[in-house]
Amino acid sequence: GTRTERSGRALNLAVSFEFFPPRQAEAVPAFWAAADDLAALAPRFVSVTYGAGGSTRDQTRDLVRSIQARCGVAAAAHLTCVGGSRAEIDAIADAYWQAGIHRLVALRGDPAGGIGACYQPTADGYAYADSLVAGLARLHPFDISVAAYPETHPQAKDAQADLDHLKRKIDAGATRAITQFFFDNDCFKRFQDRAARAGINVPIVPGILPIRNFQKVAAMAEGCGTHVPADLRARFDAVAEDASGCRQLAFETALKQCEGLRRAGVDHFHFYTLNQADLARDICAELGLVSPLEGYR
Ligand code: FAD
Repeated sequence: GTRTERSGRALNLAVSFEFFPPRQAEAVPAFWAAADDLAALAPRFVSVTYGAGGSTRDQTRDLVRSIQARCGVAAAAHLTCVGGSRAEIDAIADAYWQAGIHRLVALRGDPAGGIGACYQPTADGYAYADSLVAGLARLHPFDISVAAYPETHPQAKDAQADLDHLKRKIDAGATRAITQFFFDNDCFKRFQDRAARAGINVPIVPGILPIRNFQKVAAMAEGCGTHVPADLRARFDAVAEDASGCRQLAFETALKQCEGLRRAGVDHFHFYTLNQADLARDICAELGLVSPLEGYR
């Protein structure tokens, strides 16, 4: 292939990368190493999460601004309904707009206790993500991503109610939906079909979580209702004592998942990086996306 053939534009492939604010100062250099590494792939955007209960408010803001200034890629700030009044959240969003941050990921968020804890809207706050999206869209013409759940959000009344709610978020002004991580592509494809039938016509971007640590991912999956297929578990069990075998399996599993989704017409992947670049970068390279500076190998 030629250099241009391998660039994202010619491949008709976009990617985005999600990071979280490092919890300890020691983790900051690794965060920047990962951000620099993945920004070199010219993603559509990178995003920085907002800690449960709004706990990383200032850190999220500072990192998003620094990434955009330092790495020259569009950075999106996650923002949640939790822990702030409407006026406070609007002020945060307005400051983003003024600082040149024009992309947001708008979420309800979870209480400080995590997704299992009982959700109570904040007094004077936005109750659910749809009203947050509407409020943000009224402020400025942000590019707004929202969350979608191919396997249904655990607190939803049922799958149809959850889909109706997604539709309300899109109608309120969201540009795309990014999914919770999943491992069963058929489930995603059924969700795509159901969303299309419900009149949702914005891109549904699959959220891809490479399985660096199976035990941790299995626990997260349990918390958010993501099904872990038995054969996947068996394959990771077989390499439990073998770090390089495990990494190779993580790479192959996520790559195969992306290739299957490509065949189903997906042209944008959102990677949950957990602040580590290597797996996402290697998967992107295998999908044909390399740094414009690197050319082809
Ligand atoms: P909503 O879309 O508001 O839905 C929440 C639940 O309420 C659903 O079950 C829905 O069906 C139901 N519902 C909606 N409207 C109503 C209504 N009017 N009455 C009753 N029920 C209703 N969390 C963070 O804290 N920080 C982050 O940075 C973050 N980033 C994320 C990024 C992505 C891509 C994803 C998929 C999730 C992220 N989360 C984050 C987690 C998210 O906050 C949780 O999954 C949360 O439980 C739901 O958020 P939501 O925006 O999907 O909520």
